[in-house]
Amino acid sequence: MTDAAIRLVLGAARWTGAATLARPFLAGSGAILMLHRVTTRNWSPLGVNAGLAITPRFLDAALTELRRRGQPVVAMDEMLEAVRAGRSHQVVAVTADDAYLDNLTEALPVFEAHGAPFTVYVAPALVSGETLPWWEVAEELVMARDELRLPGRDGEIVLPCRDVGSRRAAARRLMAWLATEVAEAGQQAMLRRLGGTAGTTRRFMNWDELRALAAHPLATLGAHTVHHVALARLPEEEALAEMRDSAAIVARETGARPRHFAYPYGHGAAVGAREVELARRAGFATAVTTRHGVLVPANAAHPHALPRISVNGNFQRLSDLRTLMSGLTTPLANGGRRLVTV
Ligand SMILES: [Zn+2]
Repeated sequence: MTDAAIRLVLGAARWTGAATLARPFLAGSGAILMLHRVTTRNWSPLGVNAGLAITPRFLDAALTELRRRGQPVVAMDEMLEAVRAGRSHQVVAVTADDAYLDNLTEALPVFEAHGAPFTVYVAPALVSGETLPWWEVAEELVMARDELRLPGRDGEIVLPCRDVGSRRAAARRLMAWLATEVAEAGQQAMLRRLGGTAGTTRRFMNWDELRALAAHPLATLGAHTVHHVALARLPEEEALAEMRDSAAIVARETGARPRHFAYPYGHGAAVGAREVELARRAGFATAVTTRHGVLVPANAAHPHALPRISVNGNFQRLSDLRTLMSGLTTPLANGGRRLVTV
């Protein structure tokens, strides 16, 4: 969901108080929470990526709330079992995409304090630096210069970067351009041609840190493609290789073979029915999207197209999280459907 769509459904639910009433009927068997960064650091100067980070304090508040409500936090293996068993009381799995370093330094102590298991989805090329996280590098590029020139199909696109407003607009335009107009295979070369670099502050865990995480009793490592690609934009064989190879590399580097997978980006343009079938063929037990929704027993038939609840940095309120997990917003965000797949 876009921030505007989240605002709309949260607003409607808050106004009616409907989430509290809906919970016993709509909360389903499970909810998979999605995180990216967990940090107190102000790392998104223009705020265009602010939705990707929550504070360790909010993570602590959310886990405290789950305990207060008697909702067990489980690993993804147990989540799959809970959905298959058609549990009537919602269990919760916590997942974090991309293996940000702050997951280890700032989130792990919170998970440990609560004894809460969590899964981190790893894209090996983000770890090695071969793939730059273009959504963050785009923000750095517009902060570092006065204008940006993109080689558009119908001539050069000039984006002025003079003040906060024009820089924010330029960052959004650059991100949309990289995600939709540049071919998936050319995205990284284009980013580097524009001057993008890995920067001076390390964003992601290295393999030593991932090995330590893999050995941690609360942590599970999942796979997230090798190069963090929008799989639906790739030919079938390449897409399958991205999935299989990411699991093989994580297994080789850490000794733990991922049983669980997260589709990068996870929205309609990145994952559809073909990718769901590929995740099954690649041998994963589950695969998660970024489609919005709680899990109902019928999701047991679609373990490679599991929706999640994004814990969005722009909505760090327990009341909002309660509403999103109540199940009420699942049909609101999915054309009336309670079973969300792709
Ligand atoms: Zn990702």
